[in-house]
Amino acid sequence: MELNLYLHNTLSRKKEKFEPLNAPFVGMYVCGPTVYGDAHLGHARPAIVFDLVFRYLNHLGYKVRYVRNITDVGHLEGDADEGEDKIGKKAKLDNIEPMEVVQYFTNQYHNAMDKLNVLRPSIEPHASGHIIEQIEMTRKILDAGFAYEKNGSVYFDIEKYNKQHKYGILSGRNIDDLMAYTRELDGQEEKKNSFDFALWKKADPEHLMHWPSPWGEGYPGWHLECSTMGSKYLGNQFDIHGGGLDLQFPHHECEIAQSVAANNKTPVKYWLHNNMITLNGQKMGKSLGNAVSLDDFFTGDHELLEQAYSPITIRFFMLQAHYRSPLDFSNEALQAAEKGMKKLLSAIKTLEKLTPSETSTSDIQGLKDQCYAAMNDDFNSPILISHLFEGVRIINSVNDKKETITAENLETLKKLMNNFIFDILGLKEEESEGNNVLVDSLMKTIIDIRQNARENKDWPTSDLIRDNLAQMNIKIKDTKEGAVWSVDE
Ligand code: ZN
Repeated sequence: MELNLYLHNTLSRKKEKFEPLNAPFVGMYVCGPTVYGDAHLGHARPAIVFDLVFRYLNHLGYKVRYVRNITDVGHLEGDADEGEDKIGKKAKLDNIEPMEVVQYFTNQYHNAMDKLNVLRPSIEPHASGHIIEQIEMTRKILDAGFAYEKNGSVYFDIEKYNKQHKYGILSGRNIDDLMAYTRELDGQEEKKNSFDFALWKKADPEHLMHWPSPWGEGYPGWHLECSTMGSKYLGNQFDIHGGGLDLQFPHHECEIAQSVAANNKTPVKYWLHNNMITLNGQKMGKSLGNAVSLDDFFTGDHELLEQAYSPITIRFFMLQAHYRSPLDFSNEALQAAEKGMKKLLSAIKTLEKLTPSETSTSDIQGLKDQCYAAMNDDFNSPILISHLFEGVRIINSVNDKKETITAENLETLKKLMNNFIFDILGLKEEESEGNNVLVDSLMKTIIDIRQNARENKDWPTSDLIRDNLAQMNIKIKDTKEGAVWSVDE
């Protein structure tokens, strides 16, 4: 077990040696998706980044309990405490139950994450399944004197909290900054300060998702669910909390304040934040007209895309950047990633065919140490990948008889390449590749037989082929260039 892992802690703003509170057990919480819209790139990056962290910690021998929530209540437009519930809005538009909206997009999210080879977390709690716990935490914060009730809503009192505990330790913001930062909000008069946030919100009559509470019918504030579910499954203090940089403030700042107010303990030892994604140099968003869903990438069916990109290409592309760096998506960069990944995966096949010699011309142990050193340096996957390409170079040189490798080194290299490429980076051969070649040549044979039958006016054979293919949803169309086939989905 390699124990020299260092990670950059947003809280201390520096790299720290990873020392879990209760090794070998590690508690990790990552803010999960809000399930009211298509799974998109913004969902993929934190999922892949923390999948890498999860996989690497497991590889090192830690026993990780990874909790990633599903945000399915209390989400209003923007970060504000006022506005329309997004799930309710969608439910009303489509005339369905809010939980149907939640289920539909949760399934879609899971499907996309499975394709990206993102491992499922150990626990995936829904906010809607933890209303009682959220009411209890609100009550604790009220009892501690850091919240106040107004007209059926409960707000966190930031000014009061700031007098005893400092508010803003994660983001470095202070209350004066907040004054400038906060927008004018409707219904603001209920709050003592515009920057106070809702722990519990009274439900308007048209609000579809609401629950009974000591303060009347309402629903919990967004920040509360992560504090509640984090402490429920990982304890009042746990090791790692992750999420996108966009969540650092106010979401994670509010999580810290809530937990300190309720439990008098800072909840998290290491805060990790992944940087954001841009598309062709621009921020992404529906309002910007450049929101591309993950399915759009997988099918290539979008005006901004020149081709389809396989899920593992997307995964590899994301891992080619360090998680704390911004990442720009472009067709050019994705096509380069696709090539690089093919090179990496085909080297694994070559590796299986290599024959050992009496001597080695390369330092395989040194290469292995460099791979671990990269990952131990704040999960530096781009540096790791550059070392793996050095492995590719060695493999190809040995294959071309330009270099040699001993049997022992060959075993080390095999283990090293397989561990890092498949178990840790989570890449895989995608089914299509090899299978498609076979299917294509089989289909060509079938089409040739059919063509032959037609030329001989052997209609029964031609019809038999057509009908059997139709049963498999395979359609044949005759064009000027010959017959082409497609699968009807
Ligand atoms: Zn969260």
